[in-house]
Amino acid sequence: MRLLRSTDLALRVLMRLAVAGESSPTTREVAADMEVPYTHAAKVVAELQHLGLLAARRGRGGGLALTDAGRTASVGGIVRTFEGDGDVVECEGATPCPLSSGCRLRGALRRAQEAFYASLDPLTVADVVAAPTGPLLLGISRTP
Ligand code: SF4
Repeated sequence: MRLLRSTDLALRVLMRLAVAGESSPTTREVAADMEVPYTHAAKVVAELQHLGLLAARRGRGGGLALTDAGRTASVGGIVRTFEGDGDVVECEGATPCPLSSGCRLRGALRRAQEAFYASLDPLTVADVVAAPTGPLLLGISRTP
């Protein structure tokens, strides 16, 4: 199962902010640290702010900060939110699969998808920045 680019980017942004300490990196700095285009990062930051997982302060000295909800957010929950409700295969659509009305594989794939998410549910953002990831993130940070 392959995650959407926006899902991975959302997790990367949250992980970067989880090790920010007192500093408040800007979206541009986070994008540079994560080596992703600014426009992609800005879109994901807006969505994470909407979800209450990060806070953004504008103006001079402004920047991004993880909220308490963001620090304790479940990785599985974040992945579900960004991936949406879609199936891992497209059974319907413009050319529906002829088996779609009674396919055992479809149900098995749904269960496998749910098991994938469930395995990520117990992990929080704070958990996934434990060493060696946290020190690595600090090492690549360009924020003064
Ligand atoms: S074979 Fe089953 S799972 Fe695959 S596309 Fe058809 S209905 Fe969906």
